[in-house]
Amino acid sequence: MRSAVRAWLDDHWDANLALLEWRRLLAASGWGAPSWPTRWHGRGLPAWADDVVAGEIGRAGAVGPPVGSGMALAAPTILAHGPDSMRERFLLPTLTGDVTWCQLFSEPGAGSDLAGLSTTAVLDGDEWVVNGQKVWNTSAHHADLGILVARTDWDVPKHRGLTYFVIPMKQDGVLVRPLRQMNGHSSFNEVFFTDARIERDWVVGSIGDGWAAALTTLAHERRFGAMGRPSYGARGGRALDEARVEADRHFATYSWYPQRAGRVDLLAGQIRAKDLASDPRARQAVAGVTTKQRVAGWTADRARAARALGRQPGAEGSIGKLAMSDIARDAARAHSRLGGAEGMLRGGDGALDGVIAEILVSVPAQSIAGGTDEIQKNILGEKSLGLPREPSIDKDLPFNKTARNG
Ligand SMILES: Cc1cc2nc3c(=O)[nH]c(=O)nc-3n(C[C@H](O)[C@H](O)[C@H](O)COP(=O)(O)OP(=O)(O)OC[C@H]3O[C@@H](n4cnc5c(N)ncnc54)[C@H](O)[C@@H]3O)c2cc1C
Repeated sequence: MRSAVRAWLDDHWDANLALLEWRRLLAASGWGAPSWPTRWHGRGLPAWADDVVAGEIGRAGAVGPPVGSGMALAAPTILAHGPDSMRERFLLPTLTGDVTWCQLFSEPGAGSDLAGLSTTAVLDGDEWVVNGQKVWNTSAHHADLGILVARTDWDVPKHRGLTYFVIPMKQDGVLVRPLRQMNGHSSFNEVFFTDARIERDWVVGSIGDGWAAALTTLAHERRFGAMGRPSYGARGGRALDEARVEADRHFATYSWYPQRAGRVDLLAGQIRAKDLASDPRARQAVAGVTTKQRVAGWTADRARAARALGRQPGAEGSIGKLAMSDIARDAARAHSRLGGAEGMLRGGDGALDGVIAEILVSVPAQSIAGGTDEIQKNILGEKSLGLPREPSIDKDLPFNKTARNG
């Protein structure tokens, strides 16, 4: 496979093409998404092929598919649930980066209890009319499209009245308001829908079956974690230049994500810089979190191996996500111990140009985004350990008969 993809890149990679033109070539060859079916721009190869091929594309200095919630969340959900008309419409422009995406799931009254959401879509002739509010929607301020879960039936129990849509973000009925976070960044938004419109057939899966599609998205979200920035080196060429601009734009939103993961990589340098390498408590703190990170790396390897065997994302996703929260918190504690009061100073006055202070106010996000720690524990308890389900008083009641959010 490596030699096949190398040979194809030798013949076709041309840094002077427009980025879109290059990605269309890549998609037509099936090497852009090798694990997707041949009918849908892939090669029908096992899931492990994606990593192998991405490695070869990187080694050739070429540009691969775009990173972001399009390829990570929307595409796998549309691939899994269809229908074909949606695969036809959205998979190729997602793979080429022609459209960008955001995730419109959480609401002020529905986060962990996502199925309790109340944004409503009503069919009116050939269009769905959407009203309601979402919140914490990363990148909604520059996305073209959103994956939206909305209530289409209030007379059935909450999990059964949901539908999963694709909604165009750039329309009059959609108002996006950025939120300012305590670390000073502004990567997510409130999104208000006032008679927003969706074409009748822009439904993923089927009407009323949105919960199944949402679970697919959430499983992929747990598995993906932090996305790495592709390195395009210093070479010139139109495709590379445009890919750098695309990556700059995308990663501007995520510049604090390494800090939210705790920056374990900085601890060894910090313990030396602070002359604390012989302090047993400082050593213990750094060694402890470094050990946890190694172990989590092996869990991630196990998840990758499971994926390579073609298994759907499973318990490893929740275990890995919990480990990331735990490591982030331990790393923040270790940074506090090493940095002392200086660690609290922001900007140029602070330790490592304020990076330590940014770590301390960013790590709480790690245990919330993509499902909180408590929710991961519930998933593991119920789905993996077979413990009794959490008591629920509203699971079987029609949604319009349940008490909601006060
Ligand atoms: C960095 C970041 C990026 C995000 N990006 C997006 C995005 O792009 N799109 C999007 O739709 N959302 C996004 N979110 C929102 C995220 O999915 C929600 O914040 C998360 O699901 C928690 O929901 P909530 O904030 O409403 O908290 P709540 O659900 O109100 O939880 C409050 C507390 O109660 C606990 N709790 C709740 N239910 C239970 C239970 N059954 N058992 C035990 N404890 C419980 C929780 O663990 C938590 O500690 C993002 C969040 C963050 C932090």
